Amino acid sequence: MKSFLPVILTLIAFALIYTLHRKVSNALFHSGFGACAKCERTWDVDDEHVTWFKSNEGCFPLCQSCWAKLSPKTRWPYYRKWLQENKPNNPEQWPEIEDAVAKGL
Ligand SMILES: [Zn+2]
Repeated sequence: MKSFLPVILTLIAFALIYTLHRKVSNALFHSGFGACAKCERTWDVDDEHVTWFKSNEGCFPLCQSCWAKLSPKTRWPYYRKWLQENKPNNPEQWPEIEDAVAKGL
């Protein structure tokens, strides 16, 4: 167990450095752009995945790459967060969004 400690600490350090790098880079070079809720890559450098939950209304909390790696159930938290942040007065839209995500839209 003791021999794993340096490896674990190194992985944690890399994760923290990567997160800090992403936040500083977004603030300096990509301000004003929306970003993926999972990887935080901004829409000027990555393509968003648009989920149409009505014929004329969609949302894009995830980039195409993150969306493809997740299952519908593991996507739901990102869509819930998007709804809470972008339409706090419309929680009744959740069933429509949940249904669209479950269908793989
Ligand atoms: Zn992403």
